Amino acid sequence: RAKSQQRGGHFYFSRSMGVEIRERVRLMHALRSGVQRKELFLAYQPQVDLGTGRPFGAEALLRWRLEDGTMIPPDRFIPIAEYSGLIVEIGAWVLREACAELMRLRAAGYLDFTMSVNVSQAQFRHPQFVEVLRRALEDSGAPPEFIELEITESMAMEEPQLLAEMLAQVKRTGVSIAIDDFGTGFSSLSHLQRLKVDRLKIDRAFVTEITGSARGSSIAAMIIQLGRNLGLSVIAEGVEDERQAQILHALGCPLAQGYLFSRPLSPQGLLEWLGAQGVGDAA
Ligand code: C2E
Ligand code: MG
Ligand code: MG
Ligand code: MG
Repeated sequence: RAKSQQRGGHFYFSRSMGVEIRERVRLMHALRSGVQRKELFLAYQPQVDLGTGRPFGAEALLRWRLEDGTMIPPDRFIPIAEYSGLIVEIGAWVLREACAELMRLRAAGYLDFTMSVNVSQAQFRHPQFVEVLRRALEDSGAPPEFIELEITESMAMEEPQLLAEMLAQVKRTGVSIAIDDFGTGFSSLSHLQRLKVDRLKIDRAFVTEITGSARGSSIAAMIIQLGRNLGLSVIAEGVEDERQAQILHALGCPLAQGYLFSRPLSPQGLLEWLGAQGVGDAA
């Protein structure tokens, strides 16, 4: 058996790995037809000013609901979309839809509202990306200064030169850039300084730790200080309770999002939530 395993240099994998691979292939096919059947949609999580509690924007989060109602979480299907290349088409749709939603919010009177859109590595690196972004902005009429793209810190690590050039091109469209899940990717700080980013998003993991000990809050405190030193905006994600919000605010973090304020909402739910906060055209 050991011999046959080696013959031809074949990769010998376990039954459970085989099951996992088959499951991924199945999901990939389901995703391809799901895109056609319009099973994907966006949910919007409000972002607020920690000092005043006022909402100033929302993050668009991709959702996939199968015909039978089953929800597949993005952490499960986005890696599959990336590795199958489907993310290019899906990501372009996300951009268009998020821009369209921003325009609907503007039409409802929310003129000072930003929309954050997650962009994955494979999408960002696609040669047509800037063109797709430009088209989404032009076709919708969305003002670029109210659109923010979130890229992950691990993306910021690879090929710094190429990334810097890409970011410069993207920034020329007028949108701003946030680094998502900041603190998890060990990016070089000197590198960060050279990248033209606008905002750091403190990863939920560091927000969760914050109420434990002084040590627990040290990473969040460091990111907030770093943002201040580099002149970058900082937002905390995954804020679930009042105490976390208080500590973040005391540490000087100006912005936040999380279940404490709201879960991700449908477009209608977002309008209702905003209305209940007493902002917008009535304010
Ligand atoms: P992310 O961009 O870091 O998004 C934050 C995630 O934390 C979201 O999960 C959100 O629903 C969740 N969250 C927000 N507040 C809380 C909280 O208080 N507590 C807890 N426990 N969770 C909270 P979601 O929607 O499942 O998205 C997971 C990841 O999938 C996102 O992480 C992002 O990396 C990716 N993703 C989502 N939508 C898109 C998209 O349109 N394009 C791309 N490329 N990636 C996306
Ligand atoms: Mg994000
Ligand atoms: Mg994040
Ligand atoms: Mg995250």
